[in-house]
Amino acid sequence: MKKPVIGITTDVDSDRKHQLNTNYVTAVKRAGGLPLILPIGVEEDAKQVAHLIDGIILTGGGDIDPTLFDEEPHALLGEVSPTRDSLEIALAKEMLQANKPILGICRGLQILNVALGGAIIQDIHSQSANTILQHSQKATRSHQSHFVQVKKESILESIAETTKIKVNSFHHQAVKDVPKPLKISGTASDGIIEAVESTDHDFVLGVQWHPEALAEYGEVVSLRLFDKFVEKCKESRS
Ligand code: MN
Repeated sequence: MKKPVIGITTDVDSDRKHQLNTNYVTAVKRAGGLPLILPIGVEEDAKQVAHLIDGIILTGGGDIDPTLFDEEPHALLGEVSPTRDSLEIALAKEMLQANKPILGICRGLQILNVALGGAIIQDIHSQSANTILQHSQKATRSHQSHFVQVKKESILESIAETTKIKVNSFHHQAVKDVPKPLKISGTASDGIIEAVESTDHDFVLGVQWHPEALAEYGEVVSLRLFDKFVEKCKESRS
């Protein structure tokens, strides 16, 4: 049987070089998928790309252009990549319309939210009312630095098989509001939204942490997350 083809979006730097951490590819291969790295600049053909792939990983990266959710750039906004934003928004919309699985990781969760009309907190440390945890951890990517409370009866709970997990954390932005059909499926103790999922699609899940980095070290919830995602992509082939 053919493997499900998993599109993986990439980062592009100011020199217009594509870059992607290899552990996304490794995690997909390990779970039985065929990874296909997607280049910047094909948004006009997003429908055809969505047809080619059985599921997509919207990967981590820099900040999102705030004008896309009708805000001015905050002083602490980091580097943005308009070409990447437009491609990923187009792909997210096509995949949602086709009801094909989406796994949004870190920035990927955020771009999924923006594609559906939601907004982003541009800098959580200066823009949140609560005292904020250390979400830019000072430890290696394999270290699980903070807890996430997992919502009962969510896709995430079915994967985690518990309502409290530990995750790594490398973000200074977060989802501000969650538009339909998304719902919150995980939060940190400071109220920062750490996971969302769709109530209207077979498998659309976004996580604010980096399971691809934890999977590299055999962390069980991360391995199961990729297993479930690739299994759903296999189902969507038929
Ligand atoms: Mn975090």
